[in-house]
Amino acid sequence: MAGRILVFAEQRDGKVRKSTFEALGRAAELGDEVHAVLVGSAVAQIAPMLGNYGAKVVHCAEDPSFELYSGEGYAAALSAAIDAAAPDLVLVIATAMGKDLAPRAAARKQLCMLSDCITLDEIGGAFEATKSMYGGQVFAKVRATGKPVLATLRPSAYPAPEPSSDTAAMESLSVAVSEVGAKVVEVLKQEEGALDVQEADVVVTGGRGLKSPENFHLIEELAGVLGGAVGASRAAVDAGWIDHAHQVGQTGKAISPKLYIAVGVSGAIQHLAGMRTAKCIVAVNKDADAPIFSIADYGIVGDLFKIMPVLTEEIRKARD
Ligand SMILES: Cc1cc2nc3c(=O)[nH]c(=O)nc-3n(C[C@H](O)[C@H](O)[C@H](O)COP(=O)(O)OP(=O)(O)OC[C@H]3O[C@@H](n4cnc5c(N)ncnc54)[C@H](O)[C@@H]3O)c2cc1C
Repeated sequence: MAGRILVFAEQRDGKVRKSTFEALGRAAELGDEVHAVLVGSAVAQIAPMLGNYGAKVVHCAEDPSFELYSGEGYAAALSAAIDAAAPDLVLVIATAMGKDLAPRAAARKQLCMLSDCITLDEIGGAFEATKSMYGGQVFAKVRATGKPVLATLRPSAYPAPEPSSDTAAMESLSVAVSEVGAKVVEVLKQEEGALDVQEADVVVTGGRGLKSPENFHLIEELAGVLGGAVGASRAAVDAGWIDHAHQVGQTGKAISPKLYIAVGVSGAIQHLAGMRTAKCIVAVNKDADAPIFSIADYGIVGDLFKIMPVLTEEIRKARD
């Protein structure tokens, strides 16, 4: 069993991402002792609840300059936490923030890095991961040759554990913030209340087959009934039908939800790169030869404008 594992607890505006709980859960399965690191301007009050998901100790780096994410500042804080916790493994979620932060910290601390892991295990004393490569065309097994290791985990790769009533102890971290040279001056937020595709167990994605932005209501309605998030292909995003925050794929977000429903999406290799590790894939497409059907668990060949209202209504009835 791995010794101590340190998890970077990603939060924005004091709200911890669900995928952080997934990482804490996997850390508790792999290691003897789980620590977490929280970075922000006033985040100490959320530290104890990380214990609900398995963290024993939370290293807290608080500074007004940490209110907004900055690569340099957060990497300095994560590095300080690595010094304090001396872990065998550091886990970061492969979100936009995690993908920016993890290589910076790995370079600073000269750690072996495993990125975008879909599975992560300790086998014969070494960490071993499965990761997708070449735009999702192959899965590679990679093995770290030493410790400590820094790994980024793909969101939804592991389930979040049921929360317990345990709380974590907090330890303050001192970080030399003077070394932060670049500063974030503005954050353009996606629409309020929209569930992020990386946080959702169910994602319903619309593609060019929808024909116009107005027709995205077909996707939103099914996502609403299933309590899921709305995803989009790049073609839909490039056409200006929906914000890039929804894009799934090589140049969008990589996700592994429990259920992925692709509607009017052809299944180009760059799209598959972001969703082929979903646990169950359903495709609706009028072209029986569309590549999406080659990886779908269930396929419906037909006109989405006829199928979607019926599908949504039937699922609504079944859930009532
Ligand atoms: C470097 C690079 C990076 C890229 N990154 C991404 C990425 O991150 N994500 C991404 O998605 N793409 C990405 N792409 C683009 C990708 O190659 C495809 O162009 C894109 O995914 C196509 O989107 P689509 O499936 O919505 O559209 P199309 O390929 O045009 O497919 C539309 C589908 O809708 C079906 N359809 C049409 N009408 C109906 C109907 N009435 N009922 C049912 N089905 C219907 C059609 O049969 C067709 O299969 C990238 C490309 C490059 C070169």
